[in-house]
Formats: sequence, structure tokens, C-alpha cells
Amino acid sequence: MSVVSEVKTVRPRQLVLEMPEYHPPLAGREALRLDFNENTAAPSPRVMERLRQITAEGLTKYPEREPVERIVAAHFALRSDQVLLTNGVDEAIHLMCCAFLDEGDEALICTPTFFMYDVNITMMTRGLVKVQADETLSFPFERFLAAITERTKLIIVASPNNPTGAVVSRERLLAIANAAPHAVLMVDEAYHHFGGESVMGDLAATPNVIVARTFSKAYGLANLRIGMLAGSAELLKYLRKVSSPYNVNGVALDCLSAAISDETYLAWYVEQVRVGRERMMAGLDELGVGYFPSAANFVLMKIGPKHKELVAAMRRHGVLLRDRSTDPGCDGYVRITIGVEDHVTRGLEALKASLDEIGWKRVSGSAGQPVSEGVREFE
Ligand code: PMP
Repeated sequence: MSVVSEVKTVRPRQLVLEMPEYHPPLAGREALRLDFNENTAAPSPRVMERLRQITAEGLTKYPEREPVERIVAAHFALRSDQVLLTNGVDEAIHLMCCAFLDEGDEALICTPTFFMYDVNITMMTRGLVKVQADETLSFPFERFLAAITERTKLIIVASPNNPTGAVVSRERLLAIANAAPHAVLMVDEAYHHFGGESVMGDLAATPNVIVARTFSKAYGLANLRIGMLAGSAELLKYLRKVSSPYNVNGVALDCLSAAISDETYLAWYVEQVRVGRERMMAGLDELGVGYFPSAANFVLMKIGPKHKELVAAMRRHGVLLRDRSTDPGCDGYVRITIGVEDHVTRGLEALKASLDEIGWKRVSGSAGQPVSEGVREFE
């Protein structure tokens, strides 16, 4: 018998065996979707108009990314070799890890944060270093800086962060980049439109920074899967090398140029969220529910031991929330997305009724207080 026929099972790479899996709870979402931080209404009407112009012949063609990259680059006052369009920021994270991480390299993140960093880093290296926020959940700046070593190759910081909504100031982000000139700092600005400072204007002066943006949130295009990376042409060259030339489909590319042309729509949606977020936080204050003051299109609420009951009760009221209890340091926390005015109203009404139904009581001390009192400036 040959050696080949004795091999009984196919094994993936060892790191693939060891890496965690991410299964977002996508089933049964026919309700008010306040669970995934999506736009809760619709994208710009210009996108729907563009969709109607798609032809059968158009669908037979491979997509051409480059002309839209030129439009997007001009929109952000960058050169087109400084922009790579991606299949959502999810793919952008994957490409960053493929391009910059060798096995054994260290990659630095804070926790709690977006779980896809963990998934993609551990796919490439065992060197994932996590710096846990303290109970205030704000960004652990000093300890984060101290965690940078000579082996650090990739640093990822989301600002505003998910699931907390905490921002990291531009000054601090640049300090991190400057403390690690041998590493790439990816600043994930998925929620940038809703608050916080951008480092997009610092790319020329800080060549080891790459900014990620998504069109899934404020622009309302989550289903089309489109995001981008922006940075120095030199770093972008490596990212382009590891990406498929057809990573973004042509429908998404067509719709993207329509979406970014409509600044009035974007400003309207962002304002809906800003006003709604204030209403939600005021409503939570009234109910005595603690929360992290958010700069994003969601608020992380501190519910305590009844977190599962609340999510179930809200579902009965036709509103979906996301239980974040298993995130590090987030036991008892539930996240609610902020959408357009009517959806915030429905979310708040359902919340009041559900808290009543489950017999939730304002707990004196931590659970009845804003999680980070006095940090409304988010730092
Ligand atoms: N970054 C953060 C911080 C997120 O919360 C999310 C989505 N939940 C993403 C990136 C992924 O965005 P996209 O839809 O562009 O893949």
C-alpha cells in the first residue's frame, strides 16, 4: 500500500485548527433590527436609482474596481494608489493580517473589541496580545502603549470601538503609531461618521497608519459588502497583492459611487443617529439603566444578571438586541443600535415594557449608574 493511501484525513494548518470561530446570530431577524449596528432604514435614494439601471449584460462582466477607487480617493482627498476597496472591513482585516503577519509576530488589540480581529490574527500567528480595559471600559492607553514590543507587527484599534462606543483621541492614536514605527497601526473607523476624530488627514505624515472605513453603517450598504483601506501607496501595494482583483462585486461598486455622491443623505442619517443617541441615553438615565456614553450608532447598556431575559422580552416586542455578555469584561451588558427617529422611539418603548415585564430593578451602585460617569468626552 502506498504512503498516500494510508493518509485518512485532511488536516488544515495548525493555526486554523486552533483559531476561534465567529457565528453572528443572523437567523430570524424579521423584526426591528437593533442588534447589528446597521443603518435601520435605507441607503440614499440614489443607490436605489443606480440599482434600477443594472442590466443583464452588466452582470456578465467581471467587476472593475479601479475607476471607483479613483472616485473614492478623490472623495477623501487621497491619490488612487492610497485606496483599496474591500469586501467590507471584514475582508480588510483579513488582508491586513495576510499582508503583515508572519507566524510568531505579535499583533496588539484591546478588549473588548470587534471579534474579527481575534479571528484573523489567530489565523496567522499565536502572537495575539490583548490588553483588557478596566471596568470603566474606556481605552487602556498607558497599558496599551506599554504592551508594544519589538515583535509587534500589527496593531488594531477601533475608534469608536465596538461594543463600547468609546473613542481614542487622534493624539493618542498618533502616539501609538509613533511608538511602533516597525508596526502597522490599523485604525478601524467603521463608526467614524457618528463621532470621534479621524486620522485620515494624518496618513501622509504617519506612513505606518492605515485607516479602515466601511459603507455598511452610515451609508446603509451592509448587504453589498463594501469597505476600504487607506494609507501610504507602499503599504497599499502589499495589500493589493494579497487581495483578489474581483473582491468587490460590480453592483456594490456602482452603488458606492452613487452613495458617496449624496452628502445630504449622509448628513441626514448621521443627525438622526446623533439625536436618537441622546434620546436613548436620556431614556436610560430615566430608567436607571447604566450605559457607556457612546460615540457610535449604538449604546452598551449594563443590565446585569437579567441580560438574557431582557433580550428575549425585547424579541417578543419585535425588537432585536445583541447580548454582549460573553465579551471580555462585559458580563451583563446588552447593546442596542441607534437608528432613525421612529426606530429609537420603538426601541425605547419596548425597553421600558420589557424591563417591567422581567422585573428588572435599578440596582444601587454600579448597575444603576452610567458605566463611565464623567467620561462623556469618551476618554
Ligand atoms: N469594524 C467594526 C468595529 C465593526 O463593528 C464592524 C461590523 N460590525 C466591522 C468592522 C465590519 O464592517 P463591514 O460590514 O464593513 O465588514
